[in-house]
Amino acid sequence: MIKKSSRKKSMFWKQIPANPALKQTAPASAAAVNSTAYAVPASAGAHALVDRAQNQMLRQYETDIKASFDNIGPVLKDILSQQHHHDFKRWANRELFNKLHVTLDENEWDVSKADHSQAVFQNLFAKTLFAQFMRLSENFFKNDPLKGQNRQEAESLFRNAGIHAVGIAPCADGRLAHFVSYVLRLPYSSARRKAHAGALFDISESVRNWVFVEHTRFREGRPNSADEPTRYLKMAVYHFSKADPSHQGCAAHGSNDAKAAEAALTKLQDFRQAIENRFGCGSTVETMLIGINTDDDSLKIHIPNEQGFVSLDRFIETDKLYKQTLGMSAIDASEAIETAIDGCNMQHCATPPREQMKKLITWFVTKNFSQIEYVNTYEDGCYSDIGHAERFIGIGNGFEEVQLRNLSYYSYLDTVEEGVNDVDVGIKIFKGLNVKNGLPVPIIIRCDYDGRVPGSRDRAEQKALRIEKAIHNRYQELSVCGLVQTMATLRDHTGCQSAEKITG
Ligand SMILES: [Zn+2]
Repeated sequence: MIKKSSRKKSMFWKQIPANPALKQTAPASAAAVNSTAYAVPASAGAHALVDRAQNQMLRQYETDIKASFDNIGPVLKDILSQQHHHDFKRWANRELFNKLHVTLDENEWDVSKADHSQAVFQNLFAKTLFAQFMRLSENFFKNDPLKGQNRQEAESLFRNAGIHAVGIAPCADGRLAHFVSYVLRLPYSSARRKAHAGALFDISESVRNWVFVEHTRFREGRPNSADEPTRYLKMAVYHFSKADPSHQGCAAHGSNDAKAAEAALTKLQDFRQAIENRFGCGSTVETMLIGINTDDDSLKIHIPNEQGFVSLDRFIETDKLYKQTLGMSAIDASEAIETAIDGCNMQHCATPPREQMKKLITWFVTKNFSQIEYVNTYEDGCYSDIGHAERFIGIGNGFEEVQLRNLSYYSYLDTVEEGVNDVDVGIKIFKGLNVKNGLPVPIIIRCDYDGRVPGSRDRAEQKALRIEKAIHNRYQELSVCGLVQTMATLRDHTGCQSAEKITG
């Protein structure tokens, strides 16, 4: 049965974060997580390949972070209803810190000057949300709560599969924002993620990145020497909703699943062709097409043939495999997955995938089993927010710290002109989510820079401010009413530094 798609129904609304300061709460290990609060019910399925300790850790993180955003509205309303307090500005800031662990500039609380209480609320809402994002970013990079900075195991598995670098192009839809860390359980630092509406990634930009990766191999032998016969893996991720296919599919493709899959496949084929045409046949890349059912995070993995070619009608479905392998030993379950991969291609008279790719796909399926059980355990097998419920829009590049489903609508872009379609889709989504409820659309702009390159930070700052100005110009009608609020940020992507807010 389809559950109502409403953020108000989210469990996160009810909860004030259990942990007083995220900075101090990043679990040192999965075992350190409070296992009583997030214990897996005995009735939940017991699949031999599922990592339950990791599920508990991920759930705790998701609950804490989403609560810290969803409680902003109720907490502010509560504070603003008590303006009789002596020294209100100071008192309000203290209350905000006690409840949400952030503070604002005291002048933001100067409610006496304002002639419109709704405008005061909108401003405070956006400022608090931006402060909450800065706190999330700091926690993410300093404490590594998802263990995403430890990429050795993943890199070695990729290398064994003949892959030296991974680029993932999901749709910008917030229901895919957790694809790397949750759905595939990959360390965020092991894959480059660039999201675009409809997974329609920019081929030229992807080719430039590929050249950069290959050049680094050639000059520095990183991550491996250029003479090793490994390949770059490009993955495109489209999405669909089995529960409500005609409304909750991909907005960029009019909720038409076949169109979404075909468009992503065409992009992959064009990317592969671009590399081969420009750099010769020896420069083949590996491509992978994955569809995600956003109701339950199960996957449709399109199985490549021996030459690496992908077809729309040749795929395995992880939800079916999960059920088929439930109750098997870990070894038997892994074998059953491999048999299903070969069987899929055989059924369609295609050659089996390369042995290394088969191992890699088996690994992805295994990781996804943990996510299927995560949704079974904590969401009753289907998310209560099957539709959009993003908390803010993120535009620019980077945003590695956003690894949660429906936390943000993220769109990769260099200029608003180039990414205008993606941002328009985001604004449309937020008109429904926020504007109609009198809340502003919070937009966080991010421009990453390379701290080793002279002038890189200044250029990133100018770019971020340019994007910010273009946003207010394009959505002027909303902007003048305070319904589009922005914060421009930078980040040095060469290390684990958190986001920096551009001030002034
Ligand atoms: Zn989409």
